[in-house]
Amino acid sequence: MLNTRDFTQLNPMLARPGEPVSAPRTRLGDTELLPETAYQLVHDESMLDGNARLNLATFVSTWMDSYADRLYAEAFDKNAIDKDEYPQTAAIEQYCWRMLADLWHAPDPAATIGTSTTGSSEACMLGGLALKRRWQHRRQAEGKSTAKPNLVMSSAVQVCWEKFCNYWDVEARHVPISLDHKVLDGTDLDQYIDENTIGVVAIMGVTYTGMYEPVAAIAAALDRIQLQTGLDIPIHVDGASGAMIAPFCQPDLIWDFRLPRVASINTSGHKYGLVYPGLGWVVWRNESLLPEDLIFRVSYLGGDMPTFALNFSRPGAQVLLQYYVFLRLGRPGYTRVQEGALDVARFLAMSIGQMDQFELWNDGSDIPVFAWMLRDNPPREWSLYDLSDRLRMQGWQVPAYPMPVDLGGLTVQRIVVRNGMSMDLADRFIAEFQAAVDYLERLDGPLPQGASRSGAFRH
Ligand SMILES: *Cc1c(COP(=O)(O)O)cnc(C)c1O
Repeated sequence: MLNTRDFTQLNPMLARPGEPVSAPRTRLGDTELLPETAYQLVHDESMLDGNARLNLATFVSTWMDSYADRLYAEAFDKNAIDKDEYPQTAAIEQYCWRMLADLWHAPDPAATIGTSTTGSSEACMLGGLALKRRWQHRRQAEGKSTAKPNLVMSSAVQVCWEKFCNYWDVEARHVPISLDHKVLDGTDLDQYIDENTIGVVAIMGVTYTGMYEPVAAIAAALDRIQLQTGLDIPIHVDGASGAMIAPFCQPDLIWDFRLPRVASINTSGHKYGLVYPGLGWVVWRNESLLPEDLIFRVSYLGGDMPTFALNFSRPGAQVLLQYYVFLRLGRPGYTRVQEGALDVARFLAMSIGQMDQFELWNDGSDIPVFAWMLRDNPPREWSLYDLSDRLRMQGWQVPAYPMPVDLGGLTVQRIVVRNGMSMDLADRFIAEFQAAVDYLERLDGPLPQGASRSGAFRH
């Protein structure tokens, strides 16, 4: 018997006489395979991945049009760091972050500096590194210690900020969220800020729930702190999702470079930038905010070009895809697509909010993302994890997860509406969601004589 964990097996229908019908999984094989056999093995195995259209958990693009696919196929060999070999890709990268600087109201787009990255995680690392290095320079100039930098943020930050603090020896200062303060809103901020604070992270689109943090209120709180203490604390806006929603759907909301305290902003090109993974962007208000000693130079058309990145080689194709979507959609196109997602999110939130069993955390009107809790009155024998399992049986991925610890074990369930989740699909989803809830509620009712519920649920 082959150990199926160690070998991947070919469908016997596809094997030719004399051909190996299995291949080792964790070491290189002793024979070569035909390309079509190897293709079929990989194809079959990856078929067990979920269906992207029914995945309401991810923020990341799973669909682009056929022209984008064509560009992708033409460009998949391009290395983004090879500025000399692909000067046009390098130029297009600049067009893109300059467009973002303009979209985010940089006072002087020509003075900004930015870069593409593999995603918001890398972009946040770079934003954080620039904050840390600027603080170090200032402290050194003042002859003060640089031993204990800290970064202030909500307890509901995305994990990339935990990574940043861990990898670069910065103390993470979490401001707890609560039912009264569902996001970082500037309240009590002075208790977290001191001379070792390198910056404050404000999230446009909290990953757990989709809510915006009020960047203007945070900036106002920091203005007051500066008046009292003289500490001038910059803000980095983590706009992984919201920085590509707010400019189109909430144009009057002031969260970006219109606030002088905002030093840098990141977004994920592969989230609401509408490009396949992995692409991110980060832009600084002006060049002076990105310390020169963080910049490396690579060869470019006989001269050199500044770069700031964690990776060296990485795919360049996504940059071309971003430029394609920027050209193709423009402002009206992005507005239409994002408004469409918001409509679907608000419809889904309203439908779920109307069910007796649930209470909405938010209504999907910031970014097209919302979360809800299970009402515990009357007490129920099923949990949101059970509902998540039930929906999974129909192919829908709707994760349930605990909120940050300060909310004492509160569980929420969340839906992310992306381009491709149509109103028709949303209608179908709500019908299946209702059926799943009805099923769980029936099991939860009085049991017939002699019936047992043992093992039906996990809590
Ligand atoms: C998704 C997300 C990130 C990480 O972005 P990637 O592009 O997946 O690396 C960071 N911050 C927030 C708020 C996010 O939602």
